[in-house]
Amino acid sequence: MLMKTIISPSKYVQGPGAVAEVGKYAAQMGGRALVIGGRTALEAAQGPLVAGLEAAGMKVDVQLFRGESSWEEVGRLVALANATGAAVVIGVGGGKVLDTAKVVGRDIGARWINVPTTVATNAACSAVAVIYSPEGVFEEYVFLPRNPDLVVADTSILINNPAHMLRMGMGDCLAGWIEGETCALTAKPNFAGGTAPITALAIAKLCYETLLTYGLDALRAAEVQAATPAYERIVEAVLLMGALGFESTGLAAAHAIHNGFTVLAETHSISHGEKVAFGVLAMLVLENRPKSQIDEVLCFLDAIDLPMTLAQLKITDKGAELDRKLFEVGKAACAEGDTMYCEPMPVTPETAMYAIKGADAIGRAYRAGKG
Ligand SMILES: [Zn+2]
Repeated sequence: MLMKTIISPSKYVQGPGAVAEVGKYAAQMGGRALVIGGRTALEAAQGPLVAGLEAAGMKVDVQLFRGESSWEEVGRLVALANATGAAVVIGVGGGKVLDTAKVVGRDIGARWINVPTTVATNAACSAVAVIYSPEGVFEEYVFLPRNPDLVVADTSILINNPAHMLRMGMGDCLAGWIEGETCALTAKPNFAGGTAPITALAIAKLCYETLLTYGLDALRAAEVQAATPAYERIVEAVLLMGALGFESTGLAAAHAIHNGFTVLAETHSISHGEKVAFGVLAMLVLENRPKSQIDEVLCFLDAIDLPMTLAQLKITDKGAELDRKLFEVGKAACAEGDTMYCEPMPVTPETAMYAIKGADAIGRAYRAGKG
């Protein structure tokens, strides 16, 4: 029997200048740190981060990340970390750097800390890492024995992200409560190996409500690099609540439909969060949820300019060719092992295709002012 299970990072710290505080916490974990970061991330964070670590009495080695969270890169960094005797691995950057730091930390038996420098992903707090080939092709998920020991979100660094990254992050998190509710209803396992406790559902619901209440104001603030209270709340919603929500409640049709879209080359330039946002709308149609809820989601998607039509995902075919492509999307969305099985009713490639077409029709009508 599956037990109610929730997982989370041990500590989460957020605020302007927070990166300078990493040393205070890291020094409690060991005397030597390996910092792994992308070039841009290190330019933004390395100064105050390293100063804080050294002020706390730590020895620090800094390594430039080579671009892919591949087994080759993990192996290179593990060898370096073993040679220096690092007790703490600190990832600084986007999802791929953070995922690499987690796996390196596990493999050398060290503690690991994540310093996200983008808000487009909720990789920072999770206990899962995605491994790609050196050429960037998806290879596997690695489920780690625990979440990061510490996550530090420095909003004076994050506010310099292009605003559209915040839109992507919000699109991804929009799915959390909607998919979580479905997983709780069907008692399907979450990523913590159990089922969702009400604590996780409450966090996922608060994430959803925070997006709807503060999302637009946060986006406007991000456009002018102003870390307002609304912006701070949305950073927390994306980085912390989003991760806690999806890991400890589970994923369902919205992410399965996202995965389905990845079989169409024309969607490859569309971000994860944007495809998930459309997947949310299609999931509401698939589950025949009430119009009031669909309207609420449409209103949000429209306000922050997330996709609600296939054309916005660059899928512009018509007639039989469109049906052929969407059937392929439906087939991939229903692939064995994907999270479509968390839905309360059996879903076939055909019914998934109908939900996508239905969502597109609703989205087009809304954009034409007939919603
Ligand atoms: Zn996602």
